[in-house]
Amino acid sequence: MFTEIIEKYDWNSQKESILHKGADDVRRALNRTRRDIEDFKALISPAALPFLEQMAQLSHRLTQKRFGKTIQLYIPLYLSNECQNICTYCAFSLDNKIRRKTLSPIEIMQEVQAIKAMGYEHVLLVTGEANKTVGVDYLKQAIKLIKPHFANISLEVQPLDQREYELLIAEGLYSVLVYQETYHKERYKAYHPKGKKSNFDYRLETPDRLGRAGIHKIGLGTLIGLEDWRTDALFTALHLRYLEKRYWQTKYSISFPRLRPIELNNGDEQGLHHFGQFISDRELVQLICAWRLFDEELEISLSTREEEKFRNRLIPLGITSISAGSKTNPGGYVVEPQSLEQFEISDERPAQEIASIIKQQGYEPVWKDWEKTWA
Ligand code: SF4
Repeated sequence: MFTEIIEKYDWNSQKESILHKGADDVRRALNRTRRDIEDFKALISPAALPFLEQMAQLSHRLTQKRFGKTIQLYIPLYLSNECQNICTYCAFSLDNKIRRKTLSPIEIMQEVQAIKAMGYEHVLLVTGEANKTVGVDYLKQAIKLIKPHFANISLEVQPLDQREYELLIAEGLYSVLVYQETYHKERYKAYHPKGKKSNFDYRLETPDRLGRAGIHKIGLGTLIGLEDWRTDALFTALHLRYLEKRYWQTKYSISFPRLRPIELNNGDEQGLHHFGQFISDRELVQLICAWRLFDEELEISLSTREEEKFRNRLIPLGITSISAGSKTNPGGYVVEPQSLEQFEISDERPAQEIASIIKQQGYEPVWKDWEKTWA
């Protein structure tokens, strides 16, 4: 289990080791054809920033070699904002006294129709973590209902047991995103003081349970803004390498969600200053390119948390999938557009506009990833 491996790595010494990488380490990493963890450290270090143009060109070439000139499109469908956890950065947190909403089967289908009208074939189902209302039975019913309408169904919900994942895979579940938020075990407790999510190890073992259940694709990532992004990226890379060796038939994707402001129940906004571990746009480009140079097979995803112009510029640099036209509230497309969002999105352009921008850059927008056509 990765929970045993992570114990061998001390956060502070790993952070120091990244910060001590120099220009020679970066040059060595750039000149290699297969890059290891030490190369990854060099590529995410401050010493790599002056090499950003070179990294971007290499990332562009490697991505086109493996994925062609395509960008996949997906959209989140928020099914519920009920949650039994306290997460200090999320509007759905149990202690934020908002009106809670879980979509009924009829409401799910109303949202599905709106999403299909935008052209989507790949949907990401999202819920808070509330076992009684949105546990495995609810998810199973939702997948059953939605499956005839989409080629790909992904989940971003509470971590489940292996047997529960097996049940959902049998219903047509395609991939699961499970972000560790941060790999800093002690600080993790401060951000997740209450609820099942406060169990760091159970969350960390989730990709293992998914791998054993035979899922097609696992999405990893951390919430950028909580802790030092470089050290969190390194721990994610260690996790990815471990998983790739162990569950080699599974595909992997990575995301870089940056913290966004949230609205509290008293109408106040909780801004980003509340946390304070910022990453600049330039550093985010560095991180994307570093991932591509580290792993040529990895799918790299970008959400509507990022701003319009920045997303346009990132299209040719290494990403492979992008969300568009997203709503982050249950019923947000048609059923209840005014309900509270999980976080404020930055890029509100509709899906077809994003598809046109992808085409203008010489890429083909792909509305579905992959479809199983046999029983
Ligand atoms: S991040 Fe997820 S688990 Fe935490 S409060 Fe928000 S919805 Fe609940």
